[in-house]
Amino acid sequence: MKLIFERSVPGRSTAYLPEAPRTDLGFPLREKPPRLPELSESQVDRHYTELAKETRGVNGGFYPLGSCTMKYNPAVLETAANQPGFTDVHPLQPDESVQGCLEVMQLAERYLCEITGMDAMTLQPAAGAHGEFTGLLLIKAWHRSRGDLARTKVIVPDSAHGTNPASAAMAGFEVVNIPSDSHGYVDLEALRAAVGPDTAGLMLTNPNTVGLFDPNIAEITKIVHEAGGLNYYDGANLNAIMGIVRPGDMGFDVVHINLHKTFATPHGGGGPGSGPSGCKDFLKEFLPGIRVSEKDGMLCGTAAEKRIGDVRSFGGNFLVIVKALAYLMFIGREGVAETASNAVLNANYMMNCLKDLYPMAYDATCMHEFVITLEQMKHDTGVSALDMAKALLDYGMHPPTMYFPLIVHEALMVEPTETESRETLDEAVEVFRRIMDEAKADPEHMHERPRTTRVRRPDEVKAARKPVVRYDFDA
Ligand SMILES: *Cc1c(COP(=O)(O)O)cnc(C)c1O
Repeated sequence: MKLIFERSVPGRSTAYLPEAPRTDLGFPLREKPPRLPELSESQVDRHYTELAKETRGVNGGFYPLGSCTMKYNPAVLETAANQPGFTDVHPLQPDESVQGCLEVMQLAERYLCEITGMDAMTLQPAAGAHGEFTGLLLIKAWHRSRGDLARTKVIVPDSAHGTNPASAAMAGFEVVNIPSDSHGYVDLEALRAAVGPDTAGLMLTNPNTVGLFDPNIAEITKIVHEAGGLNYYDGANLNAIMGIVRPGDMGFDVVHINLHKTFATPHGGGGPGSGPSGCKDFLKEFLPGIRVSEKDGMLCGTAAEKRIGDVRSFGGNFLVIVKALAYLMFIGREGVAETASNAVLNANYMMNCLKDLYPMAYDATCMHEFVITLEQMKHDTGVSALDMAKALLDYGMHPPTMYFPLIVHEALMVEPTETESRETLDEAVEVFRRIMDEAKADPEHMHERPRTTRVRRPDEVKAARKPVVRYDFDA
């Protein structure tokens, strides 16, 4: 496929408006026009349509990318977020002129607090990892406010998402890794040995990154509290438990949630993300941004006195909040629990349809996702998790997450989500079973998959280390 610059023809354009007269605006204008490709509107349209056809999204097919909760994002949410009352406002408008927007923020905070068992929440963070960073700053501010400067360490289990140690390090903490036991749960003895007067807190996700609910969760959070630390809940896996159990009731003090996972707003390419950070009452004075409250019958935004500062401008990615709130209002209280139950049901259904052929990393009922390990197969036949993932592309399926979590070797992590039908799950099972047959019949051929995509096996190391993201005009 040609790049858009390669299609450019000097002088070609679709200009509907006459050129603007050059008036003196009081600042210098650029001397030369920017070096943009010159094309007609239909060429531009076709270029992007062609690109879109080359992408795999939730709208195009099954997308079981574990840990990412690639559920379908209902189109009606876009309509909700496209109301002029939400799109045509300025963040510096006086409160009385944006009462509706403030109500959205207040309601979203209230519902999300109710679901997580928190008392207050900031809507500012723009992603999950950003929410983690914010939450850790709250923990830091609290220890400081008590004059406890010795608490410099954050404990992170080895099954954690990579963002957890990264956020802890960014927030200025030292990361202490603790191992998981053979069931994939936190090793209680290792945790007891790790906590002490230097413990600022623990970061944990439950269900964890191998898709299991830790049965010792209350004991875990108690151990950390008794040592004087706080418990941070990585809420990226909330889709498995929302409406059923709450992190706040499991002993967590701070939580972030990924609206772009659990609450049906698009990930990455579909728009910005949002990772609100919630906390218990004793931490709310440190929350960044504004929180909405009612004064004399009017809603107004106020910033907390001891706030850690802003982590993003104004109300965060406000339109994402609108979409998440609309989603919650559509599914309602019962729908929240039903969503979680169906996510868990779908994952267990698929796992049980596959476990005679695919070895599971843990022999247990899973939550919203399950992890396959192809370590033995790699050893016996040379066919790796990567080979199998690439083969799925030949059947039009987005591969599951590979090589994560790190504690499982040759891992494939499958998260179907609740928005897939029984028929789609059956088709996916069929494809998984078929590629296993293919791998057994002809292991060598698996290294050449995929066969049907335009780009087959890019050099991933080179793509990460030496990415080419600019067009070289002189080449
Ligand atoms: C996705 C994810 C994150 C990070 O969220 P982003 O929005 O991608 O920054 C953190 N923890 C877990 C377990 C996740 O799955």
